[in-house]
Amino acid sequence: MDERSASGRTPLLLHACCGPCSLEPVRLLREEGFEPTICWVNPNIQPVAEHDLRLRVLRDWAARVAHVDVIVGADDRDGWERLVAPAAFDRGRRCRACYTLRLAETCRIARARGFSHVSTTLAVSPYQLFDACEDALVTLARAQGLRAVWRDVRDRYPDAVRGARELGMYRQSYCGCRFSAAEAARARHAARDHDDDVLSTIRSSRTDAGAAARAGRVLTEASPSRLVTGT
Ligand code: SF4
Repeated sequence: MDERSASGRTPLLLHACCGPCSLEPVRLLREEGFEPTICWVNPNIQPVAEHDLRLRVLRDWAARVAHVDVIVGADDRDGWERLVAPAAFDRGRRCRACYTLRLAETCRIARARGFSHVSTTLAVSPYQLFDACEDALVTLARAQGLRAVWRDVRDRYPDAVRGARELGMYRQSYCGCRFSAAEAARARHAARDHDDDVLSTIRSSRTDAGAAARAGRVLTEASPSRLVTGT
């Protein structure tokens, strides 16, 4: 593939984890002079219905709004079970293996299709393991003779969330695998328990204040002279 596309920009294959996380990277890469083609390689997303939903949302946005081509790579679920799932709740090990699996396939496609540059939308999410993801992308790109385009765009995440909301895009509540779904559910329960604790503290302090106020009224009514003097 030519270093410059018809648009005058440098073609780049952009691994995308979902539609909402693609908004800012596509915009920023274009500003930088790249023309992204999206590459969908996410056999980590479970269940399959969730995977299909995220892909549908991404394709719809890419066609109607962003005007970006989408390449769908291999959905190697067996590979994910073999290479990633054994790490289970060891998040560091699990996510490293997951990035490697997805980005290796992305780099393979980039090379096969003649791209010289690769990147990933994973860089926009503050929930990803930033350094591990960068390391995987840079190492795998180099092995394929490609240039990795890695930028810290995590400060754009709120813009991505806002943009996705304005477009009415579906936004998931967990990263993708069954382990991340369990971790997210656990975090939500912990947050709810914390909120319940705070609420019951507020309620009991209100009750104490009410009891104190009532006690004060009783005291005042029993001592009319205090009312007269205002003391
Ligand atoms: S949390 Fe996300 S990146 Fe990590 S293993 Fe699960 S799907 Fe992959």
